[in-house]
Amino acid sequence: MTNRSKHLDPNRVYEPKRCWVGDTHKIIYDTLEEAELAAKVAEYDHHSGQLKAYKCPYADHYHLSSN
Ligand SMILES: [Zn+2]
Repeated sequence: MTNRSKHLDPNRVYEPKRCWVGDTHKIIYDTLEEAELAAKVAEYDHHSGQLKAYKCPYADHYHLSSN
């Protein structure tokens, strides 16, 4: 019951899903395709250099790495 009310609480501020990897708070991508698409957008829009999508070592999702 507590789970349900917490899940639907409208006062709860939505935060993008992130994950601590070492010292970095990284954005979580649910699929490899989503991560690769985000990498392409970042390379094009922000000239961020080559970004590489990789599977998170801690959980079942993906992150981007710049090296
Ligand atoms: Zn992660």
